[in-house]
Amino acid sequence: MPFTDVLKRYDDFDFDAFGAEVTAVRAERVISKPRLTELDYLTLLSPAASAPRILEMMARRARDATRSRSGCVILLFTPLYVSNICDNRCPYCSFAHQNRIKRRHLSLDEVRAEAERIAATGLRHILMLTGESRRAAPVEYLRECVSVLREYFSSISIEVYPLDECEYSELVGAGADGLTVYQETYDAAAYAALHEGGPKANFEYRLLAPERGCAAGMRGATVGALLGLAQPLKDTFFSGLHARYIAEKYPSVEVSASFPRIRPQAGDEFKPDFTVDDRTFVQYMTALRLFMPGAGITVSTRESAPFRNAILPLGPTKMSAGVSTAVGKSSGQVSDAQFEIADGRSVEEMKKDLLSYGFQPIIVDWNYILCSGGLRLRSADATVIEQSRRNGH
Ligand code: SF4
Repeated sequence: MPFTDVLKRYDDFDFDAFGAEVTAVRAERVISKPRLTELDYLTLLSPAASAPRILEMMARRARDATRSRSGCVILLFTPLYVSNICDNRCPYCSFAHQNRIKRRHLSLDEVRAEAERIAATGLRHILMLTGESRRAAPVEYLRECVSVLREYFSSISIEVYPLDECEYSELVGAGADGLTVYQETYDAAAYAALHEGGPKANFEYRLLAPERGCAAGMRGATVGALLGLAQPLKDTFFSGLHARYIAEKYPSVEVSASFPRIRPQAGDEFKPDFTVDDRTFVQYMTALRLFMPGAGITVSTRESAPFRNAILPLGPTKMSAGVSTAVGKSSGQVSDAQFEIADGRSVEEMKKDLLSYGFQPIIVDWNYILCSGGLRLRSADATVIEQSRRNGH
C-alpha cells in the first residue's frame, strides 16, 4: 500500500470535530502510553493539548524519550546549494522561475571549491540542494556533483527535484546516502493552488519520491511540510504519518521529519495563510517525538538561535550550521538567497553553544542500524553517543 492510500483514509475525516472532543484528561492519558496510534498523535496535536500543564508533560516525556534513544547529541550538517535555476513557480520561494533574481549554477570546479571550504570547518555531513530544473541540473550533473562531494564528506544527502527510482539508484551509486523531500503541504487542493504550472504540479509523484529513494538504497530519508502553506495541524499530522510509514516499510532507513516555518523571500510579498507560533511549534515537535521516539528531527536555521537553543532538550537530533541559502559562496559571485535565515551561527559558534548547553555536537556520519535490541547507532561517534546516554545527559 503506497502512502497515497494512507492519505486517502483521511479524505472524509473531520479534524475539527475530532479536535473539539479532545480533553486535557484524554491528552494526559495518551502521553503516558508506550506507543501512540495515529489518533493518539492527533490528540496531542489538538488545541486542548496546548494547555500549559499538558505541554509541560509532553515536553518532559519528549526529553526523556530523546535522551534514552540518543543521549544529548546533535548532528551538525550544512546545506550546499549548487544551482538555483528553477522551473517551478512556488510563490513562497525566492528561487521561483518568475522572480528576477541573481542565478548561479556551479561548475564542478566550483562545487569542489565549495566542498573544500565546508570540509575545512570539520563537517562531514552535507545536504546538496538545487532549484528544481531537470533542464539546468540533469541527473548526470547531480551524479557528477555527488562524486566530487564524496571526496570530502562521509555522508551526502540530496534535496533535489523528485526522481525516478533508477535515477535515485544512480545517485546512490555515486555516493549519495540520504534523501530529503518536503511535500510542502499534504493538502492536495492547497498544493495544486500553490504549484500551478511547472513539474512540481504532480502532487503524487512528489509524495512517493521518498519511497522510490528508499527502494533505490538511500540510507536516510527526511520528509515534512513547510508550515504556513495550509492547515499546520494537518500538515504536521501527515508529516508524522509519512515518517512512520517509511520507517515501517523500510526498517533499515533512518527516517527524519522536519516542519520548517516559512521565512521572508524575494518576489511578490507572499503572505502565508497560516502562522505557527513558538508554543505551537513546541507542541508539534514534542508530539512527533512521542509518536516516533526513534525518528530524527531536523530543526533548520529558519528558526532563530535563541529558539533553537531553547528547544534543544525537547527532541531535535539534527541542526544545520554555517548556513548559506545562496549559490557560490566561495567564488565571490554569490546568487541571491532562497530565503532569509534566522540563525547565522558558524559551525564553530554552533559547536560552542551546543557544548555550553550540555550537548555533544556530532560532525561525522551518524547512522542507525537495526539489530536485535532495536535501533542502535553506528558511526565513529557512536561511543560518544552511548556515553552521553549512559551519563543521563
Ligand atoms: S521551493 Fe523548490 S521548486 Fe519551488 S521555486 Fe523554490 S526551489 Fe523551485
